[in-house]
Amino acid sequence: MSRIVQKFGGTSVGDVERIKKVAERIKLTVSQGHQVVVVVSARAGVTNELMARAKAVCAEPSEREMDMLLSVGEQETIALTAMALHGHGVEAVSFTGGMAGIQTDRLHTKARIQTIDASAVEAQLSEGKVVIVAGFQGINEDGHITTLGRGGSDLSAIAIAAAIKADKCEIYTDVDGVYTADPRIVSAARKINEVSYDEMLELASSGSKVMQSRSVEFAEKHGVIFEVRSSFNFNRGTVVKAEVPHMEKIVVRGVAVDKDQAKIIVSNILDKPGSAAKVFRAMADANIVVDMIVQNVGRNGIANLTFTVPLGDTLKAQKCLEPVLDEVRGGHVAVHENIAKLSVVGVGMKTHSGVAADLFKGLADADINIDLITTSEIKISVVLDLDRVDEAARITHKVFGLDAD
Ligand code: ADP
Ligand code: ASP
Ligand code: MG
Repeated sequence: MSRIVQKFGGTSVGDVERIKKVAERIKLTVSQGHQVVVVVSARAGVTNELMARAKAVCAEPSEREMDMLLSVGEQETIALTAMALHGHGVEAVSFTGGMAGIQTDRLHTKARIQTIDASAVEAQLSEGKVVIVAGFQGINEDGHITTLGRGGSDLSAIAIAAAIKADKCEIYTDVDGVYTADPRIVSAARKINEVSYDEMLELASSGSKVMQSRSVEFAEKHGVIFEVRSSFNFNRGTVVKAEVPHMEKIVVRGVAVDKDQAKIIVSNILDKPGSAAKVFRAMADANIVVDMIVQNVGRNGIANLTFTVPLGDTLKAQKCLEPVLDEVRGGHVAVHENIAKLSVVGVGMKTHSGVAADLFKGLADADINIDLITTSEIKISVVLDLDRVDEAARITHKVFGLDAD
């Protein structure tokens, strides 16, 4: 008997009809003789709706209360999924993240999983029940509910798969798998049959929200092979696993777009050791993830620092930069929200040159201006105007020969 973890995302459990369909698929897996743990997200849109309600009652809601609120979305779907299975005569029990033994640190809204005590899940499985676990949530040492960052149900699924040593982990979503670009932006995008953890991680952290990036990191660390596939059909999906030699033959695997970024320019700071450290210490202390960083050449002892942060953190960033400005004798903080990041990713870049030149030429030919540039071993990212980024993604996809025939 093998063990399977099946995760169903927000669209897959978007309404009661879809929840019933999900229950049918789970029933099929059970009837094939497998032990099944299911992880579900909140219905599509519910997490955003709850966030909007929080903002409507308080401009800056407490992060602890935010977790209390947002975790509700998943609690609705676990119960409904269990009930739908009961309707099919399948024994099933719903568990919150805490009941499933997912223990996290205290960092509300972005908590990290510390341990998983799967004994309660194991006990139910051995009684022949399907266990339905609420994604996106855990519990901290004090017994308070935490959430794992947006898209965090992916992480719940991968972590549980590791903890119960599942034979298979399937991530069911509203697309057939991981594509060479977001099919909503690039209609010529193609499904990828297999992709390495490193490429998937770079795609995810560059804005391909088909998988939460932290979940991919966790999968790589714990060697969890998983498949991303559609809950609406039985097509083969995309297998995400460790790199194998033939993967390097493909130079650019995919193109990612991230519209959830803002650019911050701290201008006129003292060009001396310690200035940048102070600025980024402030960001780190506020748990703000800084992505691209550019410092221009100092002139007359003065320099400018430009960097990107998640769009949702701009207010927080501005606030914690204020006290730092005095220390680094900075003149000004400017925030630009009308930007987006475009990235090309591929393990083949390690052994092939010319990717940057081709990318820049493609954008130049379309008269698209590049604002910031960063590179890693397997990725090149550029910041562009928000209103040109979709077009830039389509052009880039074509330049690297990724368009479907
Ligand atoms: P779920 O609710 O199932 O977790 P998400 O909305 O989080 O689903 O992720 C699926 C969506 O990710 C797709 O509908 C698609 O628009 C988007 N997406 C972005 N980049 C990609 C990509 N490279 N391949 C597939 N889907 C992508
Ligand atoms: N419901 C959460 C979110 O919308 C978690 C998830 O869907 O994975 O971010
Ligand atoms: Mg998701």
